Amino acid sequence: MSEARKDTVTVVGAGLVGSLLSIYLARRGHTVELLERRPDMRSELVDAGRSINLAISTRGLHALRQVGLEDEALKHAIPMRGRMIHPPQGELVYQPYGKDDSQHINAMSRGWLNAFLMTAAEATGKVRIRFKQRVTDVDFGSGALTVHDDATGAARQEPGRVVFGTDGSASAIRQALEKRPDFQGTQEQLGHGYKELTIPAGPGGAFQMEKHALHIWPRGTFMLIALPDEEGSFTCTLFLPWQGPVSFASLDTPAKLEAFFGAQFPDAKALIPDLVETFFSRPTGSMVTVKGAPWHAGGQTLLLGDAAHAIVPFFGQGMNCGFEDCVVLDQLLGQGAGWEQVFTDFERLRKTNADAIADMAVENFVEMRDSTGDPRFLFRKAVEKV
Ligand code: FAD
Repeated sequence: MSEARKDTVTVVGAGLVGSLLSIYLARRGHTVELLERRPDMRSELVDAGRSINLAISTRGLHALRQVGLEDEALKHAIPMRGRMIHPPQGELVYQPYGKDDSQHINAMSRGWLNAFLMTAAEATGKVRIRFKQRVTDVDFGSGALTVHDDATGAARQEPGRVVFGTDGSASAIRQALEKRPDFQGTQEQLGHGYKELTIPAGPGGAFQMEKHALHIWPRGTFMLIALPDEEGSFTCTLFLPWQGPVSFASLDTPAKLEAFFGAQFPDAKALIPDLVETFFSRPTGSMVTVKGAPWHAGGQTLLLGDAAHAIVPFFGQGMNCGFEDCVVLDQLLGQGAGWEQVFTDFERLRKTNADAIADMAVENFVEMRDSTGDPRFLFRKAVEKV
């Protein structure tokens, strides 16, 4: 490793990918300044992000294994060994993921995983996380960042360094790259939004549905899914069009909401005691596919994770893909080339894969949304990899 490889770098965004990336960079000898817009979720009550829990699969676990974190993470994971389909009427249908229980994906709390990765990053002794630091611009000549300190309200310049943009799907670093003449890209909002609801734990912390399954209520133009939480609860996600006869816009009164759930998801409704309160108080999330290039400005700045390639969640692969970014970047760093070469190779290796998974996620969603027929069959394909 050359001495140039050990310089101080800046990572923007201490989400899942930025925190893991910082660990990889620290292991390569770098000192890392990690700037995060939100307060520290380990000491303040902070919305952990877009979903309460998520599925981590082989790609993501592999990335954790490389830095010695897989075993601890798995202690907080719930294996999901198959899909449990909840038809509108009749018996549940269980579809195992593989021939035996070894083939499964894992439900994990996003907030726990993010906090765990931040703590592991700090434990390297080479990563300093500064919270309430919102990056608003980057000078691609020097790597200097314009940072707004949300604690004091003051704006300042952060010294010029190599910058990694891991600031998510609405990335400020990508927005700066988009202003350059060579940048070409698209952002497509899905016509559906999502809302998270909770099935609480039963008496004594018991799971009120099958614990080791990803639960799905496929209904053609909309659907409900549920993943188990460590505490015995389930986090449900309702995917629904923004507008139309059955949509977030149409479900505008408690009576309409209750009638809708009663007709479409009667078993779930019976397990969500505060349905009306949570539905109308929790935010409705949007989903976007982000494609664009280049992901880097020379050897000065590089995008990773959702900042580079946000995808809709119907394959459950967004974070897993971002974690794989860290593995690939680390392998390239190990070859000892300069930053620009590393960034160029990274984009060449990752962009085709990221575009492919983005398309597959939307295609499956469109098929589920537009087709008619047996929703159990239609949606099976859409969730094949979830
Ligand atoms: P983020 O998680 O968005 O983190 C970005 C960080 O940057 C945040 O901490 C943010 O506060 C910070 N930040 C933003 N702007 C700035 C700024 N200007 N300055 C400083 N800091 C900033 N993926 C899976 O693999 N499996 C799943 O099961 C799964 N389920 C999902 C379910 C839903 C409903 C959704 C919406 C997504 C799901 N995903 C899933 C995708 C996954 O959430 C993302 O791919 C993942 O969060 C990307 O991580 P990231 O670190 O790149 O971005």
